[in-house]
Amino acid sequence: MATRTGQEYLAGLKDGREVWYDGKRAEDVTTFAPMAAAVRSTAALYDLQHDPAHRDTLTVECPEFGERIARPFEIPRTREQLKAKREAYLVWARATCGMMGRSPDFLNVMMMSLAAKKSFFAEFSPARAEAVTAYYRHVASKDLFLTHALLDPQLDKGKARHQQDDPNIPLRVIDRNSEGLVVHGVKRIATAAPYADEILVWPFPPTFQPGEEPYANVFAIPMNTKGLKTLCRPSFAATQGLKADHPLSSQFDELDATVVFDHVLVPWDRVFLHEDIRFLNRMYRETRMREFTAHQTNARLEAKMGFLYALIQRMTEVSGYAQKSDMMEMLGEAVACLEVIRSTTRSAEEQATVDPENNVLYPDLFALQAGRALGPVYYPKLVNMLRKVGGGGLIQLPVSLSEFSSPIGLELEQSLRGAGTSGQDKARLFKLAWDVCGSEFGARHELYEMNYAGERGALLAGLQREYGRKQFYTDQLDRFMETV
Ligand SMILES: Cc1cc2nc3c(=O)[nH]c(=O)nc-3n(C[C@H](O)[C@H](O)[C@H](O)COP(=O)(O)OP(=O)(O)OC[C@H]3O[C@@H](n4cnc5c(N)ncnc54)[C@H](O)[C@@H]3O)c2cc1C
Repeated sequence: MATRTGQEYLAGLKDGREVWYDGKRAEDVTTFAPMAAAVRSTAALYDLQHDPAHRDTLTVECPEFGERIARPFEIPRTREQLKAKREAYLVWARATCGMMGRSPDFLNVMMMSLAAKKSFFAEFSPARAEAVTAYYRHVASKDLFLTHALLDPQLDKGKARHQQDDPNIPLRVIDRNSEGLVVHGVKRIATAAPYADEILVWPFPPTFQPGEEPYANVFAIPMNTKGLKTLCRPSFAATQGLKADHPLSSQFDELDATVVFDHVLVPWDRVFLHEDIRFLNRMYRETRMREFTAHQTNARLEAKMGFLYALIQRMTEVSGYAQKSDMMEMLGEAVACLEVIRSTTRSAEEQATVDPENNVLYPDLFALQAGRALGPVYYPKLVNMLRKVGGGGLIQLPVSLSEFSSPIGLELEQSLRGAGTSGQDKARLFKLAWDVCGSEFGARHELYEMNYAGERGALLAGLQREYGRKQFYTDQLDRFMETV
């Protein structure tokens, strides 16, 4: 069962989990309209693992497991294995036009990276290291889909967790017994939580202060754990009209959710760190998870930006100005942005180094973090290009493309015709563009690209703080200064 089919994934979701939407409980998330499309699209990703065209890219025979596992779970020791991971990320990302940022590969590679650095957890306690390793094996051998919730409620950002007016709101340990930890409180924003199998919790950002110990915990539990409630945001999944009227939001709206833990028991074998701010503050950096998660997220962004670039290109063609100099210049800028993101993963693979502690090959962090820092600038730039090319045409569209076969079809055809393109085909393209640059789904994606890797200012400051080639460049400057 180490590589699941879509059907097996769907069957696993009928587990009595407590998911709330618009004040009502979703009894079966696989059929509940606000999330059914995202569930189907996720199931389709699992099916791709069994498609002969993709099987060898998406999955790999793994001697340590004695069976085939999904590619993100493989601990890489060679450059070929790293490249193969990137190819696997690209296959899944292209299948969703890059629009499902939290597809299962993201957290699966994170779990792999935690297991690869079990020495970090062993320093805390051998039992916790054992729990991390066993959990990784559990997730990989069952090919599970994890969500994650890192952030506490925004509350008063000027105060520490324990100094809030109500310090009981952020998720914390309230009790511990022979079975495990009892946790209570709120976490956000867990994308895909309504239809993931399990949730991994660890707190971010790693800036814990003395007094915040009860909040400093890392653990994972199934989504149907007693006392765990998932509260969904409004769905942007278009459920009316033709698929072509809302080509992306009808398929790929991955729901974000707040998760509430009501006296939840976390068994000891699912506790990876607890009540220790020193370890928590070190974990993000020292487990080296970023190297692997950023490798996945940059590949996913490459697929998404490639999709947007092609869309801008086609829109200039149907508008008849693809060869005009200002459009050529704009498209050239889109190419430059796309190529920079594309290069980050490949550059990181070429510059990968083996960590002597565990003999794992890590892609270069700085090349990858450059992509994460530039994505929030480049993605909105490409979205704005869609707005520029489409102009008012983006809001001249009929409610549904089905109207082209209605009594007003001829008028629509005449009013929407493009350069060498029928009105209907141009409208199809512009509807797709609207889903990216005008719909609620599109707005959520701009917000996602700006935030998914954490607040950008903190990311940039971290890049400067940790930059490993700083000395090289400052030495060069100093040597030059000695010559003048
Ligand atoms: C679509 C989407 C999906 C996401 N999916 C996930 C997910 O699956 N799992 C997950 O764990 N997280 C997820 N996130 C959360 C994401 O990591 C955070 O949104 C991001 O880290 C920013 O944190 P924040 O939302 O608390 O914003 P804030 O940190 O509150 O930032 C908002 C603004 O406040 C400013 N600010 C913050 N603190 C201070 C301060 N002390 N003083 C002055 N200014 C301040 C910031 O600079 C920024 O301008 C998702 C977010 C989005 C938007």
